[in-house]
Amino acid sequence: ASLDQIGKVDSTLHAFLETDEKKIYDRVKEVESGIKTGKYTGPLAGVPVAVKDNICTRDRKTTCASRILENFVPPYDAEAVRRMEDAGMIVIGKTNMDEFAMGSTSETSAYGITRNPWDTDKVPGGSSGGSCAAVAADEVFAALGSDTGGSIRQPAAYCGVVGIKPTYGTVSRYGLIAYASSLDQIGPVGKDVSDCAALLETVAGYDPKDSTSVMRKDLQFTGYLKKDLRGMKIGIPREYLAEGLEKDVKRALVDAVHLMTRNGAIVEFFSLGLVDYVIPAYYIIASAEASSNLARFDGVKYGYRTEVFEGLHHMYKRTRAEGFGEEVKRRILLGSFVLSSGYYDAYYLKALKVKAMIKKAFDQAFVKYDMLLAPAAPSTAPKVGSSLSEPLNMYLSDIYTAGVNLAGLPAISVPCGRDSSGMPVGLQFIGDCFQEKKIIQAAYAYE
Ligand code: GLN
Repeated sequence: ASLDQIGKVDSTLHAFLETDEKKIYDRVKEVESGIKTGKYTGPLAGVPVAVKDNICTRDRKTTCASRILENFVPPYDAEAVRRMEDAGMIVIGKTNMDEFAMGSTSETSAYGITRNPWDTDKVPGGSSGGSCAAVAADEVFAALGSDTGGSIRQPAAYCGVVGIKPTYGTVSRYGLIAYASSLDQIGPVGKDVSDCAALLETVAGYDPKDSTSVMRKDLQFTGYLKKDLRGMKIGIPREYLAEGLEKDVKRALVDAVHLMTRNGAIVEFFSLGLVDYVIPAYYIIASAEASSNLARFDGVKYGYRTEVFEGLHHMYKRTRAEGFGEEVKRRILLGSFVLSSGYYDAYYLKALKVKAMIKKAFDQAFVKYDMLLAPAAPSTAPKVGSSLSEPLNMYLSDIYTAGVNLAGLPAISVPCGRDSSGMPVGLQFIGDCFQEKKIIQAAYAYE
């Protein structure tokens, strides 16, 4: 059924970069017999799932939607993929994304754009646009995405599906091709909160192969699927309702607040502070880490290598010039600049200090509130072709999501109505570290 649906809609949407039918049918047979023999007993056995193309899949291409990894076939599975396979899930294919997860529209892919299933003239958001479009269009039941500054939550909002960015350290980053390692987290995308909770439960857990993995005992997220908001204290950062927020998104947020207070939640406005510094700090840190992480793509060990060159340095230069797209090059340049001597203190170090202050501001908020409520993005999905020429405006649209990554917090994006043109609006619940249970319960009670 999943392949049928892909056959019907994916030539238009282009959510997938790869669906290998032979591998899928082999895997289906394996799972069928595994279910019979009792190898796979859980509720997710046999469920088709998609995987963002920056997450390694053994013997299946993993390109990060970049030319530089055009023919890269990893010899191992990411830990999150391994856990899904252990649960008997069937990886249907790899999903399109912004190149190396840098972008907010899925238009920076080297392999063509993905379209929003609700209006194919619009983008699905990004960078996990393929994963979110695939779930929204019923091509798969769920998918894995990655979120460095909003890349699960924002496309989930644009596509009218649910997405979770877990607390940093909850899902192993082993096999996730690094963008900004101190911010990257893998997370689930699903049709509803319970599907996301079930998938998160499957992929979360300590992994010694990731040095930032956290040992947690509270990973039974499906136990918190309760329709109960009574007594929950929810704060809305006043700054989030300032200029830049589209009228329809604001209205949807206000409607959601009324619904939640009617159901027993206590919702208040408060001042979070430092909100203007989120985007500059995020883009300095993310670009700095990216410039370092992407240094490994040099045409020597794996991936693309230029054909004509004279000597090693020329080979590096041409390989990277030909292999990386514009947005990736912009980030590498920006990142190398803020890390260079003379600018390191003024930019990178300063951004790290701001990051620590932002974390403190959130910590203070969680003394008073169980969770925070925010839009997922300032607007609904923009038209294809309207964002890329204005990178700064595109960066500004991460205002409600990137702070969560800087502070390492968990957050969930859930659909909350439509704008006047019928496009989905997303609402975000932000929790304190390790409080996925609270935001999962609130989002489930709300949806
Ligand atoms: N839009 C942000 C960026 O381009 C977020 C990307 C992400 O979370 N991977 O960096």
